[in-house]
Amino acid sequence: MPEYKTEPFIVPSISGLLPEGERNRRVALTAFDARERKVQVPTREVLCYECGRRSHVPSAALSANCIHCHAHLNMTDVELRPGSRRLTVRTLGDVTVLPDAVLSHLSIVCRNLNLEGKASGSFRCTGTLTIANGTRIEGSVQAGNLVVNRGVNAILTQGASLKNASIAGRVAGRVVGKGRVRIERGGELCGDCFAAELQVEPGGTHLGRWIRQEPGNS
Ligand SMILES: [Zn+2]
Repeated sequence: MPEYKTEPFIVPSISGLLPEGERNRRVALTAFDARERKVQVPTREVLCYECGRRSHVPSAALSANCIHCHAHLNMTDVELRPGSRRLTVRTLGDVTVLPDAVLSHLSIVCRNLNLEGKASGSFRCTGTLTIANGTRIEGSVQAGNLVVNRGVNAILTQGASLKNASIAGRVAGRVVGKGRVRIERGGELCGDCFAAELQVEPGGTHLGRWIRQEPGNS
């Protein structure tokens, strides 16, 4: 058996620094490879629902914090089922109120909102609000686009503020649009319409006044 002797590590210079060759070897052993570390994470731009400012977040993230106001930003899609007790939803994703759900006093801020059940409350969506089932909405409605499906009877007691609307069902309430409001064949809008453009297709009905708005102004 060879005798094992520990050897004290003595730096052979008075400065306490390792000789250059040894230092380079150790640096090479412990350093990250910069080329491998440079991974570009795909990001997407989101609009903070608290402060309204834009920031970039990783595309795959399910939540993030706004870089401006530090609000927690939820990015998941949410489904509200019949009997759901969840009344407040804040997300940058989409929200669906499932068929057979009858929910009131909701407060929803999201991207796209699909009302397949009956839902009432305040709704603010940056994308498209689709009303696919007859309902009476007691709260304020703000949306990029409003789509009311054929055969649907929607009552908007406080009206709706939006960019564009496409109405194929019946809507009762005041509609304020920055862009174009289109009433399709078989569709009916019962209420005043403030919009840059009102298009009533043959077979569509508008009962109320059209107050023309300058495009882009609310
Ligand atoms: Zn913010």
